[in-house]
Amino acid sequence: MVHYKNSYINYIRRRPLALLAPITLLVIIYFYFFSTASSSSSTKPKYSYNKKSKGWFNNNKDSVILKNLPKNHIKHYDLNKLTISKDALAKKEEVLILTPMSKFLPEYWENLNKLTYDHSLISLGFIFPRNNDGDEALKNLESYLKIAKANNKLNFKKITLLRQDSNSLTSQLEKDRHAFKVQKERRSMMALARNSLVFTCLDPSTSWVLWLDADIVETSPNLIQDLTSHDKAVLSANVYQRFFDDKINAESIRPYDFNNWVESEEGLKIAKGLADDEIIVEGYAEMATYRPLMAHFYDANGDKNTEMALDGVGGGAVLVKADVHRDGAMFPSFPFYHLIETEGFAKMAKRLGYEVFGLPNYLVFHHNE
Ligand code: GDP
Ligand code: MN
Repeated sequence: MVHYKNSYINYIRRRPLALLAPITLLVIIYFYFFSTASSSSSTKPKYSYNKKSKGWFNNNKDSVILKNLPKNHIKHYDLNKLTISKDALAKKEEVLILTPMSKFLPEYWENLNKLTYDHSLISLGFIFPRNNDGDEALKNLESYLKIAKANNKLNFKKITLLRQDSNSLTSQLEKDRHAFKVQKERRSMMALARNSLVFTCLDPSTSWVLWLDADIVETSPNLIQDLTSHDKAVLSANVYQRFFDDKINAESIRPYDFNNWVESEEGLKIAKGLADDEIIVEGYAEMATYRPLMAHFYDANGDKNTEMALDGVGGGAVLVKADVHRDGAMFPSFPFYHLIETEGFAKMAKRLGYEVFGLPNYLVFHHNE
């Protein structure tokens, strides 16, 4: 061995250029590994949670497999790092505003644009029915989007427009859509539309989902900050309506949405007597539940932040922690404990262990047809 070593050293002494080959090889090997390791950084997700959690996501073995795939082909999201907190804006939490839209109202769009939450943290999702109303609403929204874009005022993070694949009722007149006998069919179609919307638009980076109906035309500009500050899994605002009261010859307000309620003995009794596929819809004399309705708890002089626990919610303006939907809470289009759509959603959230609340003194306003 010693003899061999000595003779190799002597050989190198005599012909130093013979070192060139092994050194070049080492350099090539070094650069090969160095460059593949650094190219793995291009596979980092945009919302790179692994900055904080070095280790279990940074698997360099992947880079060898990824060599032939497009950039950003594999994204990592650590849902544990996604905050959903009462300091939503300060923590830059993303909000997804979801709106089923059978009619486009400019007042809705203006109100939405006045929201003071950072628009670059807000994504919008719309779903339009597959009928003439849907055609019209889509066309109108698109023209407003075009104008906003041309004026450089379209600063939402992302906007998704969906066309429903399920059916809708043909007549959307107030009196037709509120008739008791069409409720099961109408509400179950609405449930399908809402499910399509949330399952399609929810991003891994979404912290909050704000359900906002297309005919909510007036809210506080601080709606998102106000609602998130309560830190509730599901939180519904109280939907009222402005109208001209002939009796006093002046503008006034009246309750609009009766789907925010607390379960009653009577409601439970009615449910017990129903067949499996029958439902209770709130707000109809045909089925008097005597449930306490949040609409009736409004106190003009009361604290806006007063909370009340609810068992059913409407869809007018409801803030939901995205985790509630991620856990599987959706809008049943079938009788779920004899409830469907938004009321069934509240029940499902509760069955998943979440609490449902409303703000009786926090008003948002529904369009007056
Ligand atoms: P109401 O206020 O309880 O009478 O319910 P609406 O008729 O206002 O419907 C609630 C929300 O769903 C509103 O934003 C409507 O524009 C929207 N909407 C109503 N019908 C349909 C439908 O068939 N498909 C979709 N995608 N949205 C709808
Ligand atoms: Mn409405």
